[in-house]
Formats: sequence, C-alpha cells, structure tokens
Amino acid sequence: MLENGLTDYQLIRSKRKSLSIQIDHSGAIVVRAPIRLDKSVIESFINSKKKWIEKKQNLILSRKKISYKDGEMFYYLGKSYPLEITSNHKPSVDFNGEKFLLSGDGKSNLLAFYKDQFIKIVQPRIEYFSKKFDFKYRNVRYRKQKTVWGSCGPKNDINLNYLLMMSPISVIDYVLIHELCHTKIKNHSSQFWNLVEKTMPNYKEQVKWLKHHGHELHALLD
Ligand SMILES: [Zn+2]
Repeated sequence: MLENGLTDYQLIRSKRKSLSIQIDHSGAIVVRAPIRLDKSVIESFINSKKKWIEKKQNLILSRKKISYKDGEMFYYLGKSYPLEITSNHKPSVDFNGEKFLLSGDGKSNLLAFYKDQFIKIVQPRIEYFSKKFDFKYRNVRYRKQKTVWGSCGPKNDINLNYLLMMSPISVIDYVLIHELCHTKIKNHSSQFWNLVEKTMPNYKEQVKWLKHHGHELHALLD
C-alpha cells in the first residue's frame, strides 16, 4: 500500500536487478522494477522515497507555465523585465531597456528575438576569447535546446543554446569558454576543468547560476 499523499505510479517491469524511481516532467511517479518482484516490495520502496518524491513534485508544480500576458516577467541578460502587449508595434518584439514590447505571438517572437540578440552579443565575444586564449574553432551554430547549453564537435564546430540570452553575460561567457576549452580537450577530465578555471577563475559561480535558473530558461520551450 502506498502511503497517504503518494499518487498512483507507472510500473515498468524489465530484465533488471534493481528498483529505480523517477518523477517525470508532469510530476508522475515512474518505477522500474525486475520482472517478478512482489508489488509490496515495490510499494514499500516507493514509501521509503516519499520525502524525495514530494520535493521533486513540488518543484515541478511550482514551475508556472508561461502565458505571454501583459506584465509577465522575462529574463534578459540575467535580469527580468515585464512584457507589454501592444497592438501593432513594429518590430513584433522590442526591448527598450525597461520592458519588452510585444505584438503577435509571444513564444515565436520572443524566441526569434533572443536568438537575434544572442548572435549579436556572442559573435564578437567568441572571437575575442579565442584570440586572447588561443583557441581555434571552425563554426558556431545557434540553436534552442532543452538539454544542453553548448557543445563542441570533433572538428571544433561549436553549438550554442540561444536561450542563454536570458542569463547574465558572465554565464554566457562561461559557456563560450567551456566550449572553447573543448577545442583543446574533448572530455571533462580534471585537466579540462583546470583549463576552464585558468581561463575563467570564477566559473563555478556561473555553473551555479545555470543550475538554479536553467529550468526557467528552458520553460520557454514548453
Ligand atoms: Zn563540456
């Protein structure tokens, strides 16, 4: 029997030896279990994880959906600004340093705006860092991605997530430097992290910001 407060769960049985538990993006409990394991064992396992489950579910429920309404706050370089809906403003999204002016569809226009701004900001910075620290990359591509902030391919093609336009400039610089460091070291060894730290001594603060705020940036893709 599940304890009070624990909702029903999805059970996936397979040829595995151990139990695992996950909370999916909707807040539902998903349990993976060995084929013949007794249900009472599975449910007491879920009960033992009650605190962890509730914490995860609360976090998911507190993430509010973006509605692109007047007055809703949106990030720009790490600070948040209100949205003002206007009927026929051109261009369809504008940022005046105090607020966003929007006419038309919120999601597609804001994404296009962030991409545009991000490219303008990043291009000179990546050139500056690669010259200053002697990194050699081939191409930079800009995408919106739910799982990664950046990546660097085997031929030193760099991909950057333009949702980063919402993060502070120091966080953008960290992601640039992280990917540029991959042009020299492809893995995440201690040697790699030493190079990141040598290039950006306070990089851990930026990692922390992404950890705490990353889901707010990703929410734009929901
Ligand atoms: Zn990396």
